[in-house]
Amino acid sequence: MKRRHFMPALIGLTAKGESNIAGGFVYEARNEGHRIRDRAIFRPPAGTRRARIVIIGGGMAGLSAAWWLRKQGFDDFLLLEGEDEPGGNARWGQNDICAYPWASHYVPVPNTESTLVRELFAELGLMDAAGNFDERWLCHSPQERLFLHGRWQWGLDPEAGTTATDREHRRIFAEHLRALTATSQFKLPMALGRSPDASLDQLSMRDWLAREKLTSAYLGWEVDYGCRDDYGGASGDISAWAGLHYHAARQHDTKGPFTWPEGNGWLARRLVDRVKAQLVNGVWSRNIERVGNRWHLRTTGFNVEADALIYAAPSFLLPYLLEGAPKPNFDYSPWLTANLTIEQPMETAWDNVLYDSPSLGYVNATHQMLASRVNRSVWTYYLPFTGATAAQRRRLQSQDYAYWKESILADLERAHPGLRKVVSRIDIFRQGHAMRRPRPGFLAESEAWKKAVERPTFRLANSDVSGLPLFEEAQYRGVEAARACLAALGFIKKLDRA
Ligand SMILES: Cc1cc2nc3c(=O)[nH]c(=O)nc-3n(C[C@H](O)[C@H](O)[C@H](O)COP(=O)(O)OP(=O)(O)OC[C@H]3O[C@@H](n4cnc5c(N)ncnc54)[C@H](O)[C@@H]3O)c2cc1C
Repeated sequence: MKRRHFMPALIGLTAKGESNIAGGFVYEARNEGHRIRDRAIFRPPAGTRRARIVIIGGGMAGLSAAWWLRKQGFDDFLLLEGEDEPGGNARWGQNDICAYPWASHYVPVPNTESTLVRELFAELGLMDAAGNFDERWLCHSPQERLFLHGRWQWGLDPEAGTTATDREHRRIFAEHLRALTATSQFKLPMALGRSPDASLDQLSMRDWLAREKLTSAYLGWEVDYGCRDDYGGASGDISAWAGLHYHAARQHDTKGPFTWPEGNGWLARRLVDRVKAQLVNGVWSRNIERVGNRWHLRTTGFNVEADALIYAAPSFLLPYLLEGAPKPNFDYSPWLTANLTIEQPMETAWDNVLYDSPSLGYVNATHQMLASRVNRSVWTYYLPFTGATAAQRRRLQSQDYAYWKESILADLERAHPGLRKVVSRIDIFRQGHAMRRPRPGFLAESEAWKKAVERPTFRLANSDVSGLPLFEEAQYRGVEAARACLAALGFIKKLDRA
């Protein structure tokens, strides 16, 4: 990582020319997750509710489980989300300019085998029966640009200064990807693929490049960028199987991706609309117990008794809720995201990436607006914390708002000198355990965790069970957990007959 180049650049920077930039950290007021971990004392529960199925966690996985249950005509369930707003990593914000994402912001055009994604997208009018996509929500041009050697270029493959070796290594890499795609092990969701080549999961993506003698610096950057973008880790942190999946699982002749001003919040909001009768926000699950053949749940609001439980909250929290549950052997990438309000018209692409930066750059939330002139905009800035996660988590949490605000401005001002003069607000979201990191060995770790924890009426749904932190995985895991619970309760046969 180029952090060592980045950090000295911050030293000595003062807030010169800085207008009054408002803002602060978001979603940090209550920190209920830590209170549950520390077994704090909560208010006594307000009564007990009964449901056949209870779902813990209203991120994309929990919302998808609920969506699918409703589609089967099953509504005897509760969906409990701890935060006051549902969506998890697909949460969104809104100001007087537009809606904007807090984390996830796009879904690639679904492959033909991604039938669940297609089912949802057809229901939401994103595609028609003939498979044509609604162009309004396919990323408009210009899609991507890269700030390289002091100037912007279109597209993300570095161009300026490309050597014959760079070209040759790119060609060989593309050949590898074609051969790997043909093995049918890289699918979205990953469960649709043939059994994965476990040897690829034993080494890091960086070591795979070295093994194949692909030493081009530009190719190394492209591959590293892919790992940071999807998994929050550098190529040396990520399993080669996961790193290759990023490139080999997508059908490259398609358009896209799908994106919206509020990112995947657009999807979350529509799922919320469909399940709002069962959704309760602001209720943290804090204890799960098996009593007889039912699941007893204590929350920060009320108790719940249910016949089956879908656990769609992150796996690392489960041992704090369910006594005797093993600890998953998972690693989680810390992330910082920020939303910047820009007070003057700026020419950008949708995705604006900085070559020599630990950040991924920014996405412009106003890009998909169908307006002839946009005078103000919101940029969402993405900073993954690569390398040793525990140390990076401490670093993320130990610095204050002023520090992170300055680091964001200093990073972006290399491409946009004087940016701070046109920024009126920066809000920052810190997540210590934002997404599971698919490090080498993650495939076996996922299997071991599922095997150790799942029971016929207790199913795991969070995307971290797959290990690839993607919407497609959250949706698939949620629906599969819901399907398994309905089967365990004997409802699927009834529904099949109906
Ligand atoms: C910065 C960033 C960018 C991303 N960008 C993309 C992208 O562009 N495209 C993409 O496909 N994916 C992206 N992702 C991955 C994203 O995580 C997944 O797509 C997906 O949204 C994960 O959904 P989930 O339901 O599995 O988990 P989460 O989103 O983590 O949801 C878990 C939910 O459980 C709740 N919860 C936790 N504990 C409790 C409790 N005790 N009681 C009740 N509720 C609880 C949480 O509040 C949360 O709402 C991104 C992730 C990050 C961090």
